[in-house]
Amino acid sequence: MSALEKIAAIAGEAVLWRRDLHRRPELLYALDETSAFVAQKLNAFGLDEVVTGVGGSGVVGVLRGRPGNRAVGLRADMDALPIEEITGAAWASEKPGAMHACGHDGHTATLLAAARRLAADRDFAGTVVFVFQPAEEGGAGAKAMIEDGLFDRFPVDEIYGIHNLPGLPVGRFAVRHGAIMASTDRFYIDILGRGGHAARPQETIDPILVGSQVVTALQSIVARNTDPLASGVVSVTTFHAGNTDNVIPQTARLSGTVRALDGRVRGELEASVSRIATTVATAFGAEARVLYERGYPVTVNHAAAAERVGDVVESLLGQSAIDRTAAPLMAAEDFSYYLERVPGAYFFMGNGPSAGLHHPAYDFADDAIAPGAAVWTALAKASLSAASQA
Ligand SMILES: [Zn+2]
Ligand SMILES: [Zn+2]
Repeated sequence: MSALEKIAAIAGEAVLWRRDLHRRPELLYALDETSAFVAQKLNAFGLDEVVTGVGGSGVVGVLRGRPGNRAVGLRADMDALPIEEITGAAWASEKPGAMHACGHDGHTATLLAAARRLAADRDFAGTVVFVFQPAEEGGAGAKAMIEDGLFDRFPVDEIYGIHNLPGLPVGRFAVRHGAIMASTDRFYIDILGRGGHAARPQETIDPILVGSQVVTALQSIVARNTDPLASGVVSVTTFHAGNTDNVIPQTARLSGTVRALDGRVRGELEASVSRIATTVATAFGAEARVLYERGYPVTVNHAAAAERVGDVVESLLGQSAIDRTAAPLMAAEDFSYYLERVPGAYFFMGNGPSAGLHHPAYDFADDAIAPGAAVWTALAKASLSAASQA
């Protein structure tokens, strides 16, 4: 049997795992049922080590083949989102207010299918480390696993991550060298003015007027301060002030998000948000206090690893199945933390014409499991048989 036929033979069962996980979504680090499910499967497949509780609720499976020097990490995320599902599917979420709206159920089932296949054959030299992580959706589960010693306890030469992508046909993949996902930061700006009677504005410093000027001026950062050939986003997403019509309030609070595709632009955007907010407020006699929080870093693919993904997909599924120059997304990924420490690549697999990620009508495409698992197994073997770059 070919590699694809071998995967196809177990894909039907993997679809059932996916739907099982979909019915019981869990959020962030509270993954009791999900991580138990994953650990039980990995043990049943006969992996050499299955370690739970890594970085909170992460699960790591270790599979050793013939003697070899190299090790490769394959990562799936396991957490769901606080969204009320509207798919009406027979396997729809049974937990009110929670659903797998980002396809992490599918990522988990796809990597489990690959683990089962690799464990059954063990036709490789070296070690495969399966990383099932918690809290990708804003909880930095990758960082938690690293801080819990992931790479010290389970050292790898390379690490790879797959995310499904609505709009890309099922069975097709997309990768790129360099930045593929953006950094994501948050800011909070408190405008401190002087409240008073709405009919006596001359005695007040109106924080709503000042905040509006700040919002407008922040738009100049990307338009006028950022290299037109670079990428950046500054979005003000909340503006709260005042309670009634005849009072000018004392304060206003704004918040928003900042995205970038390289560290230099990220630093410039951070400095500009603070400078503009404080100086604009000062110009109107008010004061701005800015709190800027850095979130996930830029996800930067390493060239050799991205090339390996392209070569593996091409030899397995044909040239038309791989786009090696995918456009980066301004969304963010905590896979970035792994790539800051270990070479590797993060890439997309097609989810067909589904609703978008994080939409209440989204569902993972079960047909993507077979090609995804086939790529996982071939990629693991390709990475392990690569000449050591050390
Ligand atoms: Zn997501
Ligand atoms: Zn996701």
